[in-house]
Amino acid sequence: MTAILDIDLNAIAANWRNLDASHAGATAGIVKANAYGLGAAYVAPKLFAAGCRHFFVAHLAEALAIRNLLPGAMLAVLNGLLREDVREYSARDITPVLGSLAEIALWQAESRRLEKTLPALLHFDTGIARLGLPHQEFLSLRENPALLDGIAAKFMMTHLISAEIPGDPVNQAQLARFSAIREAFPGIPASIANSSGTFIGADFHMDLARPGAAVYGINPQPGTKNPMQPVIRLAARIMQVQHLQPGETVGYNGIWTAPRPSRIAVLSVGYADGYLRSLSNRATAMFDRSKIPLVGRVSMDLTTFDITDAPNAGVGDYLELIGSGHSADALALEAGTNGYEILTSLGHRYQRRYTGVE
Ligand SMILES: *Cc1c(COP(=O)(O)O)cnc(C)c1O
Repeated sequence: MTAILDIDLNAIAANWRNLDASHAGATAGIVKANAYGLGAAYVAPKLFAAGCRHFFVAHLAEALAIRNLLPGAMLAVLNGLLREDVREYSARDITPVLGSLAEIALWQAESRRLEKTLPALLHFDTGIARLGLPHQEFLSLRENPALLDGIAAKFMMTHLISAEIPGDPVNQAQLARFSAIREAFPGIPASIANSSGTFIGADFHMDLARPGAAVYGINPQPGTKNPMQPVIRLAARIMQVQHLQPGETVGYNGIWTAPRPSRIAVLSVGYADGYLRSLSNRATAMFDRSKIPLVGRVSMDLTTFDITDAPNAGVGDYLELIGSGHSADALALEAGTNGYEILTSLGHRYQRRYTGVE
């Protein structure tokens, strides 16, 4: 084993339960992008066993892959309804998130064809300008509620722009816009909060919270102590140790020069594994609670670390790249990205070991 990715499903379930217990409404499981890179086929049944009954993915194919694992649960697709997919949604009990009048019309036509009411979520744009009914379409729908005949709106939802910045006034502005939209559709349960949104006030909890990243251990309140449990550990074995003289360089383009006699550990992990190239000369690993700096370029399949100050580290030992000593958020900071990208980039050459499989 050259690199091991440990995924703790019990910690994922504990994070979900804690978030669920923090408010009165229901809590969804967000398992898009293969459950943020951690394996939807493992995570979805784990959350189901924890009591989760509302699931979201981004693509229809992601929903089809896990539909049978979630009997009776709502399984919704966020990223829009295509005409050619409509029958597959209804046949497989997959709930579309409708974000335009055109999508609403497609689903209504399917309801007429089948002569039965079909479930859906209604997505309203309150400023993010990606998906969701634009304001004009909301006004049309309010004028003509018959557009929804045959559609059972399970939830109405919107998505926050900046919830991880609690003081950003756009949060309250979106809340106000969404509240106005809700008044036009009394009786439909509502959903606004992503992970960070569940931490910015009880007003944001509503009937269904939609936390993704926090369930996977990412800090929903950057800059403060992370209330979530870590859920992964990535460790890679030292394949070889190189001894460099002062002035010698390591890796492509020689971007790091040994300032002293140095021991360089070579790991079989690279940017093809989602260990991002932007970590070159910047990342940290852990060995026995000491910090080990990455030196030189991250290449496709290899990285190099300076273990001069860790005399006990040698060939066959493991450096911890992500874990309790160095979180995905901390690595993200070094890479110039966020924890979401670190997780969803995690490679497929790691040996993945799951604990708490349902
Ligand atoms: C991804 C997503 C979420 C979850 O967001 P996190 O920031 O990971 O909690 C919630 N709602 C929508 C619409 C999303 O696309």
